Formats: sequence, C-alpha cells, structure tokens
Amino acid sequence: MMFNFVLLGAPGAGKGTQATLLRRHYGFEHLSTGEMLRNEIAQETALGKQVQSLIGKGLLVSDEIVADLIKSRIEGNLHSKGFLFDGFPRTLEQAKILDNLLLDKQLQISALIYLDAPEEELVQRMLLRGQLEGRADDKDKSIISNRIRIYHESTKPLFDYYKAQNKCVSVAGTGSIDSIFETMCKEIDKFLHR
Ligand code: AMP
Repeated sequence: MMFNFVLLGAPGAGKGTQATLLRRHYGFEHLSTGEMLRNEIAQETALGKQVQSLIGKGLLVSDEIVADLIKSRIEGNLHSKGFLFDGFPRTLEQAKILDNLLLDKQLQISALIYLDAPEEELVQRMLLRGQLEGRADDKDKSIISNRIRIYHESTKPLFDYYKAQNKCVSVAGTGSIDSIFETMCKEIDKFLHR
C-alpha cells in the first residue's frame, strides 16, 4: 500500500525543507515540480529554455508541462513507499490531472498537509533563501509577491478541493524546523497506522 501526500503551503512556507526530512525518515519519493524545472533550466534542455522566463517572473508554467514531468516520475517509482507532492498540484486542473494519473495506477491521495505559515514571514524567508541558495525567483520582492498572489488565486483553493474529500490536515509552519517536522510525523503516522 502506498501513501501519497500533497504538501500545500504558500511559497516560503517550508514545504521543500520538510519534504526532504520526510523523505529521509519514511523513504517516500519526493516529487517537487519546482526542483524538476530548475534542473531542466540548469541543464539547458529545450524544456528548460521554454520555462525559464515564466519561472523568472514568478508565473506558473502550463499544467501540461508539469503533468508530464509528474507522470513520468510516478510511473518510474511505483514500488516506493509513497509520494510526497511538493509544489504540485498548484491549480484545480492539476489536482484533477493528478487524481486521474493516480487512479490509472489504482492509487489515490491519502491526505493533504497544509503548512500554515504566517504571511509576514514568507517574504523574509524567501529573500534569505535567495541569498543562501541563489534561486533567481527568490531575489526580487516583486517576483516574490507575484508568486504569493498566484498562490492565493490558484493554489490555496486546493484546500477546499481536498477538504470536500475529508483529506485535509493543518500543521503550524512556525517554530523550529525540527518541531514542525515532529508535528508532521505525528500526522503522517496517523495515516500509516490506520
Ligand atoms: P517552487 O520551487 O515549487 O516554488 O516552484 C518554482 C517555480 O516553478 C514556480 O514559481 C513556477 O514558476 C514553477 N512551478 C513549479 N511547480 C509548478 C506547478 N505545479 N505548476 C506550474 N508552475 C510550477
């Protein structure tokens, strides 16, 4: 049995940080579309060249592009413990695509974990990450605010989509990375031990 979790949270909420820890702890497959796209850009692939300017502006790339990336990663990891979706789905359309991709493999989303981080910290966290990791889209306040606006418009509504399926769990994204991780583990353990 595979357990598949969607991590939802504003940009800078800590999804990637927590997903990395969760992958190590549970052996889940971490699927970050942002990371996949940044790899395409770094390797200067045709796809990378196609998406570079959208990402640089803090805008979303098309649902088809990310769906293709996710599909091949799902198909290549069907024997893992489960998937941690980080940064995908980001639109209602993507959530429906994901449901169908999983259904095809007789899988489904076990839960959505909402990482609830205070708005006023997000920009500061991202600017710091821009300095530490050199992410181009973290270096400019207006790009960051684009991403936060798009999150509210297109991504946050996913909470209600999964809520209607009784799949939402909220975790406070404040405090130390370790204490947030501990809370995440407690929530995930509830699903594993059902
Ligand atoms: P992230 O690392 O998840 O913050 O993603 C970085 C950037 O990649 C986003 O601002 C988007 O431009 C693009 N991106 C990542 N995931 C998606 C997605 N699921 N749909 C559309 N664009 C995405």
